[in-house]
Amino acid sequence: MNKKVFITRKIPAIGIQKLLDKGYVVDVYEKSEIPSQDELISILASGNYDAALCLLTDKIDARIFDAAPSVKLYVNYATGFDNIDIALAKERGIIVANAPSEFSSEAVAEYTIALMLSLTTRIVEADKFVREGKYAGWAPMNFIGMGIFGKTLGLIGAGRIGMHTARCAAGLGMKVLYTDVHKNEQMEKESGAIFVDTSEEVLQKSDVVSLHVPLLPSTTHLINETRLRLMKPTGFLINTSRGPVIDEKALEKALREKIIAGAALDVFEFEPHVSEGLMELQNVILTPHIASASVEVRNDMAEVASQSIIDFFEGKTPKNIVS
Ligand code: NAD
Repeated sequence: MNKKVFITRKIPAIGIQKLLDKGYVVDVYEKSEIPSQDELISILASGNYDAALCLLTDKIDARIFDAAPSVKLYVNYATGFDNIDIALAKERGIIVANAPSEFSSEAVAEYTIALMLSLTTRIVEADKFVREGKYAGWAPMNFIGMGIFGKTLGLIGAGRIGMHTARCAAGLGMKVLYTDVHKNEQMEKESGAIFVDTSEEVLQKSDVVSLHVPLLPSTTHLINETRLRLMKPTGFLINTSRGPVIDEKALEKALREKIIAGAALDVFEFEPHVSEGLMELQNVILTPHIASASVEVRNDMAEVASQSIIDFFEGKTPKNIVS
């Protein structure tokens, strides 16, 4: 009998087609909003599915496992998998895989550069100004920004995304300073990046600071009130890593009191909640965790996820098992 797969939200067609081409029966949750766990339980319990392709917004825990004993494989359409009870899956012999894309580091790096240029040229504020009908003719002092050529980009975290961001910044004529728990010699060679021992030094010496660390106890609130005060008053801060790396209350204060010039956030401390205080401020750009949302990445993730399902049911070991 053909295997049955449930996909908890619409994903790019290329991934669904891959399953259909192999003869799978594929059901996709049709609504655009996030399904509640009760809704997922009722669909999975009644559908007799063999596998589920789920999202970070789906809580996959004992309730789901109990309700859907026929589901032998969960593939998360994401790099992360903290929405799934991995320990319990292991205990019950349920396989869990994630779906990282080899293109996502490039996408997040390009997005970081887009945020930097949006901050330094004040594009978001200026767009709002025009739409509000306030443009009354060219004025020499309208929306003066900061040039980036020859300026210093400071990176905290120099892994995959940090390294690609350094490449882009060097291409734009910026100097790159970085700190990490490990030196990145490839990045130093390629982008002329200079290593410094502490994040304090990066914050003090950079015109734009961008965060590219994982969320760990050591990086939680890495950017706090004391460290924000080390930045130049003309400095900009960008976060595309994880929200809790910044103490958001302290950042709001620093932006309000003009301790720093501006910030751009793609991730939030209490995501998806965004504080009212931040939303009131003009010197911060706020985007909904879309740094990797390029068509190349999303299509690749869909193919990677579907391939894991196909591999599993063809008796091969799927590439990205995390359980
Ligand atoms: P990576 O693991 O390749 O690199 C992280 C780097 O941070 C490593 O070099 C590591 O040594 C360094 N590091 C760890 N602890 C540190 C510390 N205390 N001080 C300084 N450096 C430290 O990770 P990556 O793929 O480059 O991802 C970076 C961040 O981007 C992660 O938080 C990831 O979750 C996030 N991310 C966000 C999006 C998005 O859509 N906004 C997409 C993908 C990844």
